Amino acid sequence: MAYFDNNATTRPCEVALAAYSEALSEDWRNPSAPSSSATRVRVKLDLAREKLAACLGVYPDTISFTSGATESNNAVFFHLARSSSSQARVLLSPVEHPSVREAASRYFFDRVDELPADDSGIVDPSTLAPALDATAVALVSVMAANNETGVVQPWEKIAGICRAHGVPFHCDATQWVGKLPSSKFDACDYLSASAHKFGGLKGVGILKASTEVSFIVGGEQESGRRAGTENFPGVAAMLAALEEVESFVETSILEKARDTFEQSLRSSIPGVEVLGENIPRLWNVSALLMPRFDNLRWVGKLEKIGHEVSTGSACATGKDGPSHVSAAMGLSPEQARRVVRVSGSRETTPAEWSGLADAFRLAYAELRADSSSSEVVSI
Ligand code: PMP
Repeated sequence: MAYFDNNATTRPCEVALAAYSEALSEDWRNPSAPSSSATRVRVKLDLAREKLAACLGVYPDTISFTSGATESNNAVFFHLARSSSSQARVLLSPVEHPSVREAASRYFFDRVDELPADDSGIVDPSTLAPALDATAVALVSVMAANNETGVVQPWEKIAGICRAHGVPFHCDATQWVGKLPSSKFDACDYLSASAHKFGGLKGVGILKASTEVSFIVGGEQESGRRAGTENFPGVAAMLAALEEVESFVETSILEKARDTFEQSLRSSIPGVEVLGENIPRLWNVSALLMPRFDNLRWVGKLEKIGHEVSTGSACATGKDGPSHVSAAMGLSPEQARRVVRVSGSRETTPAEWSGLADAFRLAYAELRADSSSSEVVSI
């Protein structure tokens, strides 16, 4: 099966598995225990924190290890709701992940506003300063890159404007970290990421936050910010994965293979559109608005011919209705049901992208044949 759903999760990379297995066999002790063997694990955990902080360009004492970006995102809103005025509002882009949108509503109720965005869901930084001047704002939260379309937000500019106004800025960088250079996140007050999106394991993530943030109680781990026995093997695997991907910053060849796939698809399937085509987006994703057929039929047909793709966000699978990202991009509910997302990785070769284009052509021919034979039957 050719795997094209890397925005949902990546296959754990070899170095991550090796680091995990070594830590499980050598460094399995509780890092908070008093023995000298356990202290060695604590020292390694803190060294991993330093190295991960260096990859992200932030101070080590601002990094907490979490179970993933969902927890990190929830923690940010939980903390801000407790520490800001009961009138203060939060401002989000219209294309945030559900773990940002729903955490914002859970903790800030109706004090959640969407920032104006263009028809690709990109926030216009020039609208931010007036919004920050007009009302008391506890937090601005804008993701680095969108999980459904790969569209990239001007998060550095937005971070600068927030800092100039003294308003905290949170960036959900889950889809950016591991795909684009990640050493400038010091510009963000809060940052979320998940290891399994870049070759690490599920259930491990990062929260960058100021040191007074505390979100899980019941122990003094993570400097009292997040109680619970630390997952050193998971952290060691995450570090190994991030160091490996960060050493390959050259993505233009990978992007070219994805672009060639899109061109090939456009020339063989009339009417196919690429969402966010001419704007900055991640090099690994194509969000395709297909001219016909429900996306679940495309996913099923492509899987039968050996290609695993997606309808959009795995987190929204099973939810009724079109995704809020498609809606923010101006698609009708009927169009949103025709969006197919393909997402490659650093390992995806040009030959695999070209094989995917062939698979789409075959799937299209078969879907048309299926629908014309079912029309005949229904007559
Ligand atoms: N934010 C974004 C942008 C994501 O793509 C995801 C994963 N789909 C998450 C947050 C949540 O990550 P996790 O499921 O690893 O907690």
